[in-house]
Amino acid sequence: MKVLVLNAGSSSLKYQLINMADNHVLAEGLVERIGQSVGKLKYKTTEKYEEERPFPNHETALVRVSELLQDEKMGVIKDANEIEACGHRTVHGGEEFNHSILIDDAVLSTMKKCIPLAPLHNPANITGIEVAASIFPKAKHVGVFDTAFHQSMPAKAYKYAIPAKFYEEDHIRRYGFHGTSHLFVSREAATMLGKEQKDVNVITVHIGNGASIAAVKGGKSIDTTMGMTPLAGLVMGTRCGDIDPAIPYFLCKNKDLTIDEVDQILNKESGMYGLTGNSDLRDIEDKFIAGDAVCTEAMEIYAYSIKKAVGSYFAALGTVDAIVFTAGVGENSDIVRKMVCSDMSGLGIEIDESKNEGRKTNNIEVSSESSRVKIFVIPTNEELEIANQTIEVLKNL
Ligand code: ADP
Repeated sequence: MKVLVLNAGSSSLKYQLINMADNHVLAEGLVERIGQSVGKLKYKTTEKYEEERPFPNHETALVRVSELLQDEKMGVIKDANEIEACGHRTVHGGEEFNHSILIDDAVLSTMKKCIPLAPLHNPANITGIEVAASIFPKAKHVGVFDTAFHQSMPAKAYKYAIPAKFYEEDHIRRYGFHGTSHLFVSREAATMLGKEQKDVNVITVHIGNGASIAAVKGGKSIDTTMGMTPLAGLVMGTRCGDIDPAIPYFLCKNKDLTIDEVDQILNKESGMYGLTGNSDLRDIEDKFIAGDAVCTEAMEIYAYSIKKAVGSYFAALGTVDAIVFTAGVGENSDIVRKMVCSDMSGLGIEIDESKNEGRKTNNIEVSSESSRVKIFVIPTNEELEIANQTIEVLKNL
């Protein structure tokens, strides 16, 4: 069976066509700058292809992707009907969805009710689903939610200490994100430990541009650092993570900024970008290595925010079998992994510097022989997890 995994953003569409017989990626790519005067399409099979032209909307973008998939020279399928299922990455499922689900009209209308919780992401996800359903009408469409894995959190982890009516009336609570990735790597970690998921406790550290940590007890998320929105928790590429909640109020009052301006500052102009003027950790690391004082301090702030969250999840879990590093920074930065894991022997965490060295493209253990807690680097594969969950949903119909 071939599954098309789609991730529709406000002006972009990422796609991956996977042959589930052997998990082989037949084609992948993205369309960027949808709705702008010139858009860009990238398409990769065994070869790479790019084109620049206007893509007025998601429909034109996906129609073009579908044409390329069936193209005589560059295509990987003969007929669109070969795609039996589409798995749609969907950011916010609110409290409505704690697992992936076959999309029908009722599900779509429930998803629309979740829009206030993710006003930037969910409308684009819904557009992606509607467009794909019109272009691939014979395929089954499955929604896979970033928030679903964290729906197992207990109230003590997800409720905020604000007047109860805001939870009851407006559903303001911690939801958490990156659930597909946390689930994928925590399952892989259990395999690496040679145990069943139900028998292991894992702390999963997903650090890319966006970043979050989850405490996973027996295969279930019991806490995570992101909150009602992805702004909370760790210091990220451009997001501030946890700050004193009074700061937005202070900025509006004393700096004559509007709520929307503060929202923009905290989401797009803060984090590593706010501290250093650069959001890409590769550049910051280069300057850190060269001894730049600003980047050194920023790296310390970044690693410390991760270290503190890892420590707090030891308390939440009681015992920890493994810590997993994943995503762009987690997989590639030996410096960050080392900074996070240093001086943690009191918690049984000891990294082996030579095993840790370098970028990792396969599952690998980087802890020392004597480390009580295993430290793993596990490349995440959210697309494959979405495709697998899509198949699971179809099997259980
Ligand atoms: P997202 O999916 O959240 O956009 P990714 O998981 O792709 O992000 O991670 C992107 C981040 O990974 C970038 O900020 C980049 O700095 C970081 N990154 C990628 N390669 C390296 C590397 N070799 N060393 C350090 N950081 C890296």
